[in-house]
Amino acid sequence: MYVSENLGVNERGHLTFGGLDTLALAKEYGTPLYLMDEDLIRKNCRALLDAFGKYYDGNANVSYASKALSCVAICKIMAEEGMHLDVVSGGELFTALRAGFPAERIHFHGNNKTEEELRFGLDSKIDCFVVDNLYELERLEAIAAEQDQQVRIYFRIKPGVDAHTHSFIRTGQIDSKFGLALENGEAEEAVARALQCRHLTLAGLHCHIGSQIFDMEPFAHAAQIMIAFLAQIRRQHGVTLGELNLGGGFGIRYLPEDDPVELDECIRLLTQAVKAACDAEGFPLPRLGIEPGRSIVGPAGITLYTVGAIKEIKGIRTYVAVDGGMADNPRYALYQSPYTLAIADRAGDPRDFKATVVGRCCESGDILQEHTMIQAPRPGDVLAVLATGAYNYSMSSNYNRIPRPAMVLVSQGRARVAVRRETYEDLLRNDCE
Ligand SMILES: *Cc1c(COP(=O)(O)O)cnc(C)c1O
Repeated sequence: MYVSENLGVNERGHLTFGGLDTLALAKEYGTPLYLMDEDLIRKNCRALLDAFGKYYDGNANVSYASKALSCVAICKIMAEEGMHLDVVSGGELFTALRAGFPAERIHFHGNNKTEEELRFGLDSKIDCFVVDNLYELERLEAIAAEQDQQVRIYFRIKPGVDAHTHSFIRTGQIDSKFGLALENGEAEEAVARALQCRHLTLAGLHCHIGSQIFDMEPFAHAAQIMIAFLAQIRRQHGVTLGELNLGGGFGIRYLPEDDPVELDECIRLLTQAVKAACDAEGFPLPRLGIEPGRSIVGPAGITLYTVGAIKEIKGIRTYVAVDGGMADNPRYALYQSPYTLAIADRAGDPRDFKATVVGRCCESGDILQEHTMIQAPRPGDVLAVLATGAYNYSMSSNYNRIPRPAMVLVSQGRARVAVRRETYEDLLRNDCE
């Protein structure tokens, strides 16, 4: 019935998370509350690293896309697990460095990195920049020249693959703000230009076709196209680029009926496609990279809320309001993301009550889930939204001047605060008289 392996129901009928009673956690830390399962995060990292060991002789970097969930505690876990890190802003880079994450395992993404961010990355001696466009290439070369530094870069390529996912999270096709297209010769021109840049070393190519993808076929297709392009570059320029990053995007289970591919199987299929394409092109196997976010932390998180007002509109629907909403999870409001919800107090009971679960923001679109089945709710119940580990805390806001919830990490039956709850004072920190 529930969507992640770390969820259960105890003898009192309460929802458990990593073996702990969620009602006890709600009571101790308050609601809304983000809960993250450190053990499951580590397990997911290891599954990916082990799979590359098994299927690709370990000739790979597994990066965590920190935009899915970035805070010091999470970056520390990633560092300890031997992961690499993908950052997309100065703020994510700052967080990682503050956590002691090794700069030489960080790469910097983004379609419009600011001057300050480029310099910050350079000064921090990160592993490489994933250059998105020719404007960035020019500026990076200029800054590197000014500082007399040699900088490793990748290019972000649009392979022209349709990833069969929501249009807001689909990024591989030509009509995307990210990267350089193959179809119109943009990518080819960028490669030629980069090879002329004295302070830049073109180390490899990158693509990321989208997110929440259940089908491995588009990944295999993208790998094929990217390796064909690597072979073309070798023919045209006599340069063999030795690195290829195929991005993230592996789907996770939000609803019980979702059927994501296991992480190990994702890597088996991906490496199989890479090997076949290299074989066909007579191209040496590149050092591979991936950078999943959602599939590492998504299933490892839930959010707890307290049920407040319940408003039945006869013949229409029943609104169940909770003490959080779009400020801590804007994903339904943004793109109607599905979630599984449950009343944690009676998690073992059948979910036979149809509810539209809404937040407390002054916005009709402040909806966590519409027409969803939960146990019949009562004011004061704890309501859990499942699989919220990715793109919830990282997308949260202070809309309506609502302080952000705390985040608690659970490991081996123990809980600790990873991010403390914001206070009203925090909201005023930057206000000037
Ligand atoms: C968002 C993003 C990722 C991570 O995607 P997930 O779906 O969370 O795995 C990886 N790479 C890039 C470039 C991204 O934009």
